Amino acid sequence: MPDLHKQTIHEAAELLAQGKCSSEELVRDLLASIEAIDPKVQAYLTVDAESALAQAREADRNRKGLAGNPLFGVPLAIKDVLNVEGQPCTCGSKILQGYTSPYDATAIAKLRARGAIFLGRVNMDEFAMGSSTENSAYKVTRNPWKLDHVPGGSSGGSAAAVAADMAIAALGTDTGGSIRQPASFCGCVGLKPTYGRVSRFGLTAYASSLDQVGPITKDVRDAAILLGAMAGRDPMDSTTVDVPVPDYTAALQTDLKGMRLGLPKEYFVKGMDGDVEKTVRAAVDHCRGLGAEIVDVSLPNTPYAIATYYVIATAEASANLARFDGVRYGARVDGEDPIDMYGRTRAAGFGTEVKRRIILGTYVLSSGYYDAYYLRAQKVRTLIRNDFQAAFKTCDAILTPVSPTAAYPIGKNADDPLQMYLGDIFTVTANLAGICGISVPCGFTGGRLPIGLQVLGPAFGEEKILRVAHAYEQSTEWRKAKPEL
Ligand code: GLN
Repeated sequence: MPDLHKQTIHEAAELLAQGKCSSEELVRDLLASIEAIDPKVQAYLTVDAESALAQAREADRNRKGLAGNPLFGVPLAIKDVLNVEGQPCTCGSKILQGYTSPYDATAIAKLRARGAIFLGRVNMDEFAMGSSTENSAYKVTRNPWKLDHVPGGSSGGSAAAVAADMAIAALGTDTGGSIRQPASFCGCVGLKPTYGRVSRFGLTAYASSLDQVGPITKDVRDAAILLGAMAGRDPMDSTTVDVPVPDYTAALQTDLKGMRLGLPKEYFVKGMDGDVEKTVRAAVDHCRGLGAEIVDVSLPNTPYAIATYYVIATAEASANLARFDGVRYGARVDGEDPIDMYGRTRAAGFGTEVKRRIILGTYVLSSGYYDAYYLRAQKVRTLIRNDFQAAFKTCDAILTPVSPTAAYPIGKNADDPLQMYLGDIFTVTANLAGICGISVPCGFTGGRLPIGLQVLGPAFGEEKILRVAHAYEQSTEWRKAKPEL
């Protein structure tokens, strides 16, 4: 029997459909892989073995669910920010220690309806604020390719679990790059859908106008499968859009004939890592070889994206995190009166980065500063969106690096928030513009750390970016490389 934990969703589905393995065997094999490898990688916060095995046995009893459904009986790892009924949801924060979700997020409910199994909760930066998973209140997850390096973030646990074959696939969330960047640091595929494509109901909000749920997977086909299962209008999230959900796997062709791909000069900047630039440029040439026409495009407001993002994201976070007050959710530290109790609970419950952002966000929203910071950031956000709209008039999709560097050593940027924020330069733009993007492995640094190619597409253009990423992936060998653990 093949190594079950190494399978993709579509490979596992085939084994299950042919009766070559049971869902219970698949789950048991993953549990063994977690037991052997996670002490080194530290991707999981909690593993729900008992309920995963019960779900698997249920799937094995009900084999007719398998027909035409690649998720049936397949276990997934879930970022600890998405609610799964009966499981913890700490968001990587002490303030939610001991909290149990009373309901499923819509994305989870849709996967559950298709028979997916929820194996456990994976680590993340506290409330998804960070780019390295070092901001988790619980542990630092390690990059499976080099254990003293970060896995990226904030969905670092999701990417590390998939890269180390401790999950068949995972869900992450992306507010400014948190799916695409860890996927690129760990050598996985990560897809951030268009804003409004996947419901945010049951996702603990960081910055509500930027957040999206999406897959982190071993290949592009799996990303298409998970997106198709989760996408669609949800009456519980009024920002979801009623655009038909296509069969995303039907978009997966193997050439790029007739496609125009844009190359923005603003995404190849001074100071970026030489290996990253060389590797991404080689990937662009490869796409040309697959039949794409490469055209120059300009996204002139890119230099303002980091400042704009960190004003808007922190403003929204300061409002969203007001709900953690010691009354409604999670931990409480008693005080002399309710105000004192709120203060003590929040002082003890939130970590340094979260506090920094609440303070920053409150500042940019305060009277006297609102116009200078928040309102101005909203205007620049529109300019960034207009840049993309203009660019997509001349191309089908845009090729860029995911991050200016590959993974870096744990601790390197931990005490330098500005340095950490600057690393988000190539990913925050898609969230500000509301468009979709995917990260696909495109090579390694000299030090054998994975590098990702980012393909950005217009709003609801997921089929285009999936097509580009798939054609690239299938005509290269990068997906076959695995870390040695
Ligand atoms: N690194 C960015 C931040 O810290 C993005 C995080 C995310 O996408 N959740 O805000």
